[in-house]
Amino acid sequence: METELLRCLKKAGLDAGIGPEEEKEFSHELYACRYTEGVIRCLACKSEKVYQLADMRYRCGRCKYTYGAFTGTWLGLARISLTAWLSLLRAFTDNLTARQAVQLSGVSFPTVLRVFHIIRQAIAITEEPLLMDGSLARAKNLPHKSGKDDLAIRVPVFGLTEHSQAIEIILLPEMEIAELLRQPVRIVKKGGLIYTDAFMYHDALLAYVAASEANELDKQALFTRGTVYVDRSGGFIPFLRQSLNKYHRIEQEKFPFYLYEIKCRYQNNNPLFERLLSVLNRPVPEV
Ligand SMILES: [Zn+2]
Repeated sequence: METELLRCLKKAGLDAGIGPEEEKEFSHELYACRYTEGVIRCLACKSEKVYQLADMRYRCGRCKYTYGAFTGTWLGLARISLTAWLSLLRAFTDNLTARQAVQLSGVSFPTVLRVFHIIRQAIAITEEPLLMDGSLARAKNLPHKSGKDDLAIRVPVFGLTEHSQAIEIILLPEMEIAELLRQPVRIVKKGGLIYTDAFMYHDALLAYVAASEANELDKQALFTRGTVYVDRSGGFIPFLRQSLNKYHRIEQEKFPFYLYEIKCRYQNNNPLFERLLSVLNRPVPEV
């Protein structure tokens, strides 16, 4: 992405007051930078005969398909202006709460929550495509295989590996929480967060259970009072625990998205705003 464009977009996120002309220009530039070969093609038929309409949409001269600059992308999932998007992305990258973001952007509280969730989904699914599940497909009206397991109805288990600065978190689709709890390994439970000592080629297995289930598990006294390998200071787990403390309550099915958001903040090798805008400008994968 062009640095000059990025500078303007960041500024727009701060000002939250760009005019319709700038909004149109920025939308077009974001749209155009998805076409690395420099030629804009119709989303439906790939024809190059695409022209821009006065209302910021595009129309294909061949198949007449009409679409917006962000149709099919993560940015297109929220029906808000680009200015509002930039402002909320700034709030998100600055780690503001949803309430603070409402004050900053003037966008309603439910919309801020929805936009923050879209950002988390984009981060998580870009890193771990297995998190793309049926419920997201339904929300988008995408075709999806019926009967495919929704994460909402089970507790996913993740494998965590840390190599000095870089960390890797993968979803282990074959492992259920019950199986994790049966492993002959030390297991720590802190609130709803459950993680193990080093296990096979993972530095830890990781899962999160809702408060009601967490209380049930406590009665079974499965957990160690000591520490495990990933508890060492300076690692990801202490950062994850500290970050989770910021939230009053996390719904179990949303935990995977918070997990990858926190991983993204932990690995702050590039400016977050830049990384996330580039992720959000990509097409949402099909299920
Ligand atoms: Zn077309």
